[in-house]
Amino acid sequence: MGVVADIFDDLISLLFPRICNACGDRLMKNEKLICTGCFVNIHRTGYHLIPENIVEKTFWGRCKLERVAVFSIYNKDSGIRKLVHNMKYRGIKEIGSELGRIYGNDLVESDFLEGIELIVPVPLHPSKERIRGFNQSAEIAEGLSASTGIPVANDILTRSSFSHTQTKRKRVDRWSNVEGIFGVTDYERIEGKHLLLVDDVITTGATIESCATELLKGKNVKVSVVALAATIN
Ligand SMILES: [Zn+2]
Repeated sequence: MGVVADIFDDLISLLFPRICNACGDRLMKNEKLICTGCFVNIHRTGYHLIPENIVEKTFWGRCKLERVAVFSIYNKDSGIRKLVHNMKYRGIKEIGSELGRIYGNDLVESDFLEGIELIVPVPLHPSKERIRGFNQSAEIAEGLSASTGIPVANDILTRSSFSHTQTKRKRVDRWSNVEGIFGVTDYERIEGKHLLLVDDVITTGATIESCATELLKGKNVKVSVVALAATIN
């Protein structure tokens, strides 16, 4: 039985080679989504160990966040860029949960998660989620939850469907564009809680700022933030 199953597996991988989502090389049998080389070499910021890091500073004067960290840096050649791209545009949602799980393992070994009780993913625009079939931030949140044991609440933040595509707008436009499109469904559920807001990539920070501003209207609510990556300008 075992031998037959092994031969069958070998045949399948010969016909449909599984490839690394970061570098495109063939994966070994024991590798999942990302090859060992990319896993080891992916640039990690270590920002969860650095209070007042450069990403945290971009939110100063915009909204009060307790702690901010990102797993990696997003630029043209970064492994994380290819991974995020394959997750979002090739629909490989398992990349999100796997990277969330990996990052969660780093975070639990530090003080970063101290006091945090609930993970809240940034909601995706409803029509985008319908097309993509999943919300990448929710996948990352599931992975983080798996390795940290902190529960996820997918129904705390809502996003209205009345916003236009943001990609071609300048920063000032984008800020006003996301302002007011997020809402909180139940302030009682988050009262007195320290929340971990989760996004895939932080660019201008406008989305995080907008979500955090709504969450912070809750009584004695604290907000910390993690993302898989940030673009550093
Ligand atoms: Zn690779």
